[in-house]
Amino acid sequence: MFFTQSKPFKMADKTFALIDCNNFYASCERVFQPRLENKPIVILSNNDGCVIARSNEAKTLGIPMGAPYFKFKKIITDNKVHVFSSNYHLYGDLSERIMTSIRMLSPSIEIYSIDEAFLDLSDFKHINLFDYSSNIRSKLKQWVGVPVSIGISKTKTLAKAANIYAKKNTISGVFDMRDEQSINRILNGMQVEDIWGISRKWGAKLRCLGIQSALDLKNSNPKNIRQNFSVVGERIVRELRGESCLGLNEIKSKKNIISSKSFGKTVTEKREIHEAIANYAVRASQKMRAQNSLTQGIVVSLRTSPFDKTIQYYNQSRLYNFSEPTNNTSEIIKFAKLIIDEIFIQGLKYKKAEIMLTNLVDENSYQQNLFSYSKNPKEKKLLNTIDQLNETLGKDKIFYASQGTKKTWTMKSNKRSNRYTTSWHELKKIKL
Ligand SMILES: [Mg+2]
Repeated sequence: MFFTQSKPFKMADKTFALIDCNNFYASCERVFQPRLENKPIVILSNNDGCVIARSNEAKTLGIPMGAPYFKFKKIITDNKVHVFSSNYHLYGDLSERIMTSIRMLSPSIEIYSIDEAFLDLSDFKHINLFDYSSNIRSKLKQWVGVPVSIGISKTKTLAKAANIYAKKNTISGVFDMRDEQSINRILNGMQVEDIWGISRKWGAKLRCLGIQSALDLKNSNPKNIRQNFSVVGERIVRELRGESCLGLNEIKSKKNIISSKSFGKTVTEKREIHEAIANYAVRASQKMRAQNSLTQGIVVSLRTSPFDKTIQYYNQSRLYNFSEPTNNTSEIIKFAKLIIDEIFIQGLKYKKAEIMLTNLVDENSYQQNLFSYSKNPKEKKLLNTIDQLNETLGKDKIFYASQGTKKTWTMKSNKRSNRYTTSWHELKKIKL
């Protein structure tokens, strides 16, 4: 047997762009309220607890990320900061519009998060990528109304860095960082922690090794980095050097889907918890059917507040495995409620419930039970019809009786703006 030593081969040069929305949640609020342009905005977490997003003007006022709302109320009122409860219907819908628009403008896209997408522009090198990206940027502003920044470079990690620079230091909002000189100049001005994938903990460890700036990291020995930070660390160094190690990721189906929320108040009645868990089950099941999966089991949990020192903390969960993978909402609700019956203790004040659909399998290729009966085809049709109607007519137009109608346990969101794009009753009204 012959072994040939593999020759180091030169990888074809790659080009990536990262599109990232500027202060996404704050920008979404401005789309339907243009008077908020240049005004400070903060968005609060579930139950209006902490600040989870800020406009640039709010950042300048020194309101930190994660700031408890009640602690900063004075700064907020003194400076006329506009405060919003999170409006995930609006943010989710505008995100979808942005991603759909990008898809119309560029062929290879990976949606990385609610407000970020990578493009593979390797086949577009012959054209002026600054102009190409500027065009995408102005189209997104025109079509959706949200401003974005775009960073271009040879790898995904470098495109991320280019994006940070584009956002902070350019008026055009686009930065092409492909030549070695600008790569070195920009990385020299960045901390190691600013690099994609470097956590604060890794940053501290790198500093102990004398690596301070992103440029130091680029110039370090990948083999040494591997010893200390595994292959993941080595890959980051290679990416900083312009060797593309990460391609565009296709969207993978999730293996677990979680739906949970803190209640708006403490809940003591089992009926209310039944309603809440039924609603979470509906939400999770819709997501599961949208990715064509079936679930093999559910984990339901229930807990009191870990912050309330006056009561003993209680946190219980149970797993139930279905005899046959399912995507049937009513079956999932039924067993979720049975678990609640098991773990619910009368007299406690509950703060949160959660359902996780676990070990999801593909709808079209799963192991059938030896004794299984074939599924009723009408059931599938019914579920699809409900999903479609709720998609076109609005969330929960058709709902299960067990979801309840009063929903006394829902989150506080007193300052939520209208769901302008997903609810007929909340459309923007214009006075003529
Ligand atoms: Mg962003």
